[in-house]
Amino acid sequence: MLSKVVIANRGEIALRILRACRELGIRVVAIHSSADRDLKHVRLADESVCIGPPPSISSYLNIPAVISAAEVTDAVAIHPGYGFLSENADFAEQVEKSGFIFIGPRPETIRLMGDKVSAIATMKKAGVPCVPGSNSALGEDIKKNTRLARDIGYPVIIKAAGGGGGRGMRVVRSEAALHNAISLTRSEAAAAFGNDQVYMEKYLENPRHIEIQVLADAHGNAIYLGERDCSLQRRHQKIIEEAPAPHLTEEQRRTIGERCAQACRDIGYRGAGTFEFLYEEGQFYFIEMNTRLQVEHPVTEFITGIDIVREQLRIAAGELLQYRQEDIKIRGHAMECRINAEDPDTFLPSPGTVTRYHAPGGPGVRVDTHLYSGYQVPPYYDSLIGKLITFSDTRESAMARMRMALEEMIIDGIKTNIPLHQSLLMDASFQAGGLNIHYLEKKLGMN
Ligand code: ADP
Repeated sequence: MLSKVVIANRGEIALRILRACRELGIRVVAIHSSADRDLKHVRLADESVCIGPPPSISSYLNIPAVISAAEVTDAVAIHPGYGFLSENADFAEQVEKSGFIFIGPRPETIRLMGDKVSAIATMKKAGVPCVPGSNSALGEDIKKNTRLARDIGYPVIIKAAGGGGGRGMRVVRSEAALHNAISLTRSEAAAAFGNDQVYMEKYLENPRHIEIQVLADAHGNAIYLGERDCSLQRRHQKIIEEAPAPHLTEEQRRTIGERCAQACRDIGYRGAGTFEFLYEEGQFYFIEMNTRLQVEHPVTEFITGIDIVREQLRIAAGELLQYRQEDIKIRGHAMECRINAEDPDTFLPSPGTVTRYHAPGGPGVRVDTHLYSGYQVPPYYDSLIGKLITFSDTRESAMARMRMALEEMIIDGIKTNIPLHQSLLMDASFQAGGLNIHYLEKKLGMN
């Protein structure tokens, strides 16, 4: 097993990774910005290194500083968590060139999947169903683009090949608006992502967001761990996730899951990964692959009984996958509410001191958070301060447990989105399950 791992992240996920390392007897190095000295995992780690001032760009995104921390502490591997450097192929490459293990896929895979045009081309080749579209970057030829849009059929969506975080996309509903939309998206993409390539897809009006979790080792074995439904989103940010996806059949799960596992074998994928799909009228349409651990991984852990972070560490150590596909049994239902430090009405961030914190508990309740009474939520980073995850034999019971857990959870001193979760858990449509990605914004009166 790995002897010592640097956790190149902060907050709840750094604590989550620390726990998995500890269980396997791996020593842990926490790296942190000067604003994060009091993070729970920093206090619990075997060693810690302050790598820079508060802004992410000077600390958590500072590649030489992160690698130096691994060097001075004699670590053997780096876990990037999610966000920050987790999908940065240059970082993964430099980690490996410096003689460390990157806990994730090979740098070439990250690069291939980081460009959406090459990701879609690769998946199409591997037989993964994709959204009807241009299948390649759009050229400057107006006539050709017009013909393409006609063939696909309006509405279409113009997307940046290098886009991420829900940015760099534009829906086009008529031919008159097409050319302008392509030019605008192109110049925005060049400015935001340093890559002006754009492509075209059919715009699906009312899809759900369903994603497949995969695990692959470095020896050509790959399995899928079922799906998650992450359709409840605001500004493309997931708010509640659950597994399994309501109303999906066993047959649908197996067909799409096997496709994804086979795609992993085809591309020599290594580690944990997620295939994101839009799902409409019984069909799956691939939109992108996340080559990292995801925020919502705990719902899958609950329904499969597999510790995904522990598997990441084993795979990185070169071990064979511990499970075959037939070992994976999906049981019960799990749900996750993302707890954000933000005003539940205006959604503005609400940093500050947590004057009082009480965690909920009971059967089937998991709390992943770095909070404690007296902790100061800094203003510099993402507003996610924790995740509340519940599990039970049925969806109704998992929801009932979530309602109780939300009621029990006390976070004083800052505002959180707990009231929003409470209102969603009381919503009759949500209770019925299977909502599309626009539901939450409609409910909030955003469109
Ligand atoms: P990002 O990497 O920025 O998250 P994605 O390709 O995953 O970009 O798309 C983000 C979101 O944009 C999707 O979850 C969906 O809400 C919307 N979207 C993207 N492509 C389409 C499409 N073809 N039709 C409808 N909605 C889309």
